[in-house]
Order: sequence, then C-alpha cells, then structure tokens
Amino acid sequence: MSDLMKEYIDEAEKDLLHTYNRYQVVLDKGDGVYLYDINGKKYLDFVSGIAVFALGYNNKEYNDALKAQIDKVIHTSNYYYNVPAIEAAKKLKKVSGMDRVFFTNSGAEAIEGALKAARKYAFLKDGKNDHEIIAMNHSFHGRTFGALSVTGNPKYREPFEPMIGNIKFADMNDLDSVKALVNDKTCAIILETVQGEGGIYPATKEFLEGIRAICDEKDILLILDEIQCGMGRTGYMYAWQKYGVKPDIMTTAKALGCGVPVGAFMMTEKVGQNSLVAGDHGTTYGGNPLACAAISKVLDLYEKQHILENVNSVAPYLEEKLDELVDKYDFIETRRGSGLMQGLVFNKPVGEYINKALENGLILINAGANIIRFVPSLVISKENVDEMIAILDKVLG
Ligand SMILES: *Cc1c(COP(=O)(O)O)cnc(C)c1O
Repeated sequence: MSDLMKEYIDEAEKDLLHTYNRYQVVLDKGDGVYLYDINGKKYLDFVSGIAVFALGYNNKEYNDALKAQIDKVIHTSNYYYNVPAIEAAKKLKKVSGMDRVFFTNSGAEAIEGALKAARKYAFLKDGKNDHEIIAMNHSFHGRTFGALSVTGNPKYREPFEPMIGNIKFADMNDLDSVKALVNDKTCAIILETVQGEGGIYPATKEFLEGIRAICDEKDILLILDEIQCGMGRTGYMYAWQKYGVKPDIMTTAKALGCGVPVGAFMMTEKVGQNSLVAGDHGTTYGGNPLACAAISKVLDLYEKQHILENVNSVAPYLEEKLDELVDKYDFIETRRGSGLMQGLVFNKPVGEYINKALENGLILINAGANIIRFVPSLVISKENVDEMIAILDKVLG
C-alpha cells in the first residue's frame, strides 16, 4: 500500500466511528463498471456500492441532469410542491404499478414509513394498539429501530433491545411457519422478495402466493422490501412483478437514485386512503428537488439504455459462469440468486478470497460469512463477466 493511502486510512480510523471493518483501499473515482483508487489503480466493480450504481459510474446524462438541478435549486421543503418530485412520483408509479409515493432519504426510512402506514391502517379499523407484524428470519431491513425490529438476525438486534415490540419471525419459504403466527392482531407481513444481506434467498412463487392469499383473507397488509432486489436487478423492474404477486406496500431505495441518497415507500390507493394523513409522517430532506431530479433521470435512462434487456441478456451468462466455478471447486457448495443478484455459497468463510480479489483489481462483497455476493452495475457486459471470472478463478485457485 502507498504511504499516501496508509495516511488516509490512519486518519479515517482516528476520526470516523469504527462501525465498519473497511477494505484497505481509498477509492477516488469511477467510470462505467470500473473504480479507481487514489493511486490510479483500476478495479472491476461487481458490488456497485451494494446494488446502488445501476447505470455505471460517470454516466454523462445523469451527471448533467444533477448539475442542472444544482444550478436551479437543491432544496425547498415538503411544505411546497416542486416539479422534480411530481415528475419522479409519476414515473415511479408507472414502473411499479403502485398508487401513492412517499420519498425518503434511505432504505431504512422507507421501511419505517411502511411499518407506520401498516399500523395506522389497522388502528383505523379497530382502534386498538396491540397489532403484530410478521417478519422473516435472516431478513435485513435496515439499522433504525423500526427496521431493526423486523430484521431477522438476533446479532444485529440484541445489544439494542427492547425493539418496537409485537414482531414475530417466521421462516422464508415455509408457509406453515407464517400461518402458525397469524392471528386477529396481525396487521402486516414484511419480507424481501429476494433476501439480500441474509444470503441471497429468492422467495418461491408458492410462498409469495400463499402469503398473498393469507393477507387477502384476513385484510393483512403485505409489505415487500425491494430495496436491494428492485430497480431491475432481477430482470423485472421490481422482483415481485416476476411472480405476479403485488404487495399492498413496497419499499425501494439503493439504485433508485443511483448514488444520490433516496428511498421511497409506495402503496395501493386502498392503503393510501386508509392510513397516513397530514401530520402523521414527514421528512425535511425526503423528496427534495435534487434527489427527485436524480430519480427522474434514472428512470428515463433505464428506458433509454434498455437496462432490463441488458440484465436479461447478461444474467444467464453470469449464472452459467458461476455454475462452472461451483463444478470446479469442491469448497463451493452452490449458487443461488435471481438476475444480477447472485450468491456463491462456500463451505468456509470468504473474507480472504474477497481481499485477494481486491489485490487483483476486482471488487466483490460477501453476504454473510460464507457467501460471495454479486450485485454489479446493471450495464455490465458478458466481457465484464469473463473478466471477473478470470480474476476470481485465479484467486480461488
Ligand atoms: C440496504 C437495505 C436496507 C436499508 O437501506 P439503507 O439505505 O441502508 O437504510 C433495507 N432493506 C434491504 C433489503 C436492503 O438491502
């Protein structure tokens, strides 16, 4: 490592709260699917800021749209209307099929809003304050108290107990485990359509359909967290569209702003008309003109650059190449995932391999101790896949 990089890292470790074990690199700039560190070393990026930079770095049209909005106005307030937010909401409704949008600053805040909307919906029905929410084991929904409360990993929750209360955990893809928890107090069932941090587990069609049926029968709200698996990653704009199981409330973030910190929770008109009203929820920054100019341009560019088509053409090739690694190395157990959201499951920790890949100019990340996760930009080509596999194969060997 260069002296300059070591200096920066030492400074960071003195000044930033140590809540991450960071990889030993200081990144400086990006271009397409590549990142460069402060010494100019080039890295092929198969993380994209954890499923954020879908359009690739330094996209000129995207950058120009942000610059133009900066020169107009960056922030006003949610007490006034602004054109970028109006346009972004209309475009987001179109691609999601949802009816009402609330913009947030992050994924966790989108989850908070979704949980509040679900509780309010139930409260308006029976006036009670004892409603329960069913979440999934191994889920991840964010680090704020509400989001943490529905996150199915006791390690993340334990030091911060008590949580918000009345949350129960079922097992993903085990409908009976959900049925066993449903009662008259249940107001919502929340899950990721494809679990991300918890190990890249896609929901099965039967499971999602079964949950939808329970929700319909009992007027329970289905909340789908599409923060990581959404925005085209599975080859559909939102992963639930592949299953044809529509949620009552959904969350989106990560690639929504392609780098500008934004999220949103959205709902059907039924929930919109029977949950949060003026005074119930708010945010200073959420949906500000800069953030919404980003969303609006991102959604335009998804169409213009045929992002879904690219995912659907490259993803099967990535799967094929990853499967070859599963066959070749007996310490790799399996591959699972959907579209450009894939995991290679090892029978041992993957940290060393990820560090080695970084040394060799390839950025990868784990999802749990034993899984390497692949969540690249959605503009990657088959050649990029070949380039990634060549480095990974070398590192594994
Ligand atoms: C990243 C993530 C979140 C939290 O989003 P933040 O923007 O980090 O708050 C929530 N749910 C899922 C599925 C995620 O992947």
